[in-house]
Amino acid sequence: MNALEVEDLVMHFGPVRAVDGVTLRIREGSVVALVGESGSGKSTVGRCIVRLLEPTGGTVRLAGADITHLSRRQLRPHRRYVSIVFQDPAGSLDPRLSVGDIVGEPLRLMRRKGNVADALRRVGLRPEVAQRSPHELSGGQRQRVSIARALISEPRLLVADEPTSALDVSVQAAVLNLLADLQRDLGFACLFITHDLSAVEYLADEVAVMYLGQLVEQGPRARIFGTPAHPYTQALLSAAPVPDPVAQRQRKPVLLGDDLPSAIDPPDGCRFHTRCPVAVDRCRTVVPESRVIGSDGHQVACHLVEADGSGPDVRTSEGV
Ligand code: SF4
Ligand code: MG
Repeated sequence: MNALEVEDLVMHFGPVRAVDGVTLRIREGSVVALVGESGSGKSTVGRCIVRLLEPTGGTVRLAGADITHLSRRQLRPHRRYVSIVFQDPAGSLDPRLSVGDIVGEPLRLMRRKGNVADALRRVGLRPEVAQRSPHELSGGQRQRVSIARALISEPRLLVADEPTSALDVSVQAAVLNLLADLQRDLGFACLFITHDLSAVEYLADEVAVMYLGQLVEQGPRARIFGTPAHPYTQALLSAAPVPDPVAQRQRKPVLLGDDLPSAIDPPDGCRFHTRCPVAVDRCRTVVPESRVIGSDGHQVACHLVEADGSGPDVRTSEGV
C-alpha cells in the first residue's frame, strides 16, 4: 500500500499557479525527496498533503483515504496518519505553552494516548525539558521538540519541509541523523522537502524534481544522481559537490542564468525552455508529457529524452 498518493494536484492562489498538476506516490516506509529552487512550489505541495491548504484541484489520498476536500471535523480521524515538521522551529512552537504541552498537544486533539517523556527521549532530549518553555531552548533543541510532537501520534507519513535549513550549520547534521535514525526505527514514510542535495543522497529512496509548479523528473535516488535525464535536474546536480574528485573535475557547473520565471504567467510549452541550454523550437510551444523511461519507475518530462533514457547532458555537451 502507498502511504501517500497525489494525483494531478493543483494549487492556485488567485493568479499564482503555485502547483500545476503534480502526481506523486510514496510507498509505506520509504523516503521521497522533493527538490527544486525556492519558489518552485515544494512547500505548497507539503501543505496540501497535510491539508493546511485545500487543493484547487486533483486528489490527495492518505493510506488509501481521499482527504482532498474533507472538512476539519471529517479530517480528524485521518490526522494521525500524517504530520509535518517546518523549517523554522521558533515560528512553529507556541511560546505560551510548555514543551510538554506542545509535544502532547496532538494526543489531546486526537484523543489518543501516548507518552510525552518517551517522545522527548526518542529525539535525544531529557524528559525534564517538558517543564521548560521553547524560548529557553536552542534552535536545534526546538527542532527536536517539533519532531517529537510530529511523531508522538505515530504517523505513517511525515512531511519534513526544509527541517534543518533554519538551523546553525553545526547542528544540521545531528538533526538530519536523528531524522534518518527515527525513520529507520519507526518506519514512517517521509516526504523530505529540501534544496540540500547532499542530504537527499543520504536520506532519500526516491527523488522528485520540481520546477515552477510541476514535476520534471522522478525516480530512484541512485538513478537520479547517476543518470539524470532532465536538463534541469542535470543543472541542479552540476552545482552540487560530488564525492569523486575525478568526476568533479570533468564536470562544469551549468549556470541557469535568470531567476525562476513568474508562476503568474509561466512560459508556454516546456516551462523550463527560457533557461534550458538545449531547448529547441518545439519546447517553446508544446508541453512535454511525463514519460516512464525505465523499468525502475524513472519518469521525465522532456522532448529530447528518448524512450531508452538517452538524451542531452547539459553538463558535458559543448556549444550550448
Ligand atoms: Fe529543455 Fe526542451 Fe527538454 Fe524543456 S523539453 S527541458 S526546454 S529540451
Ligand atoms: Mg519552501
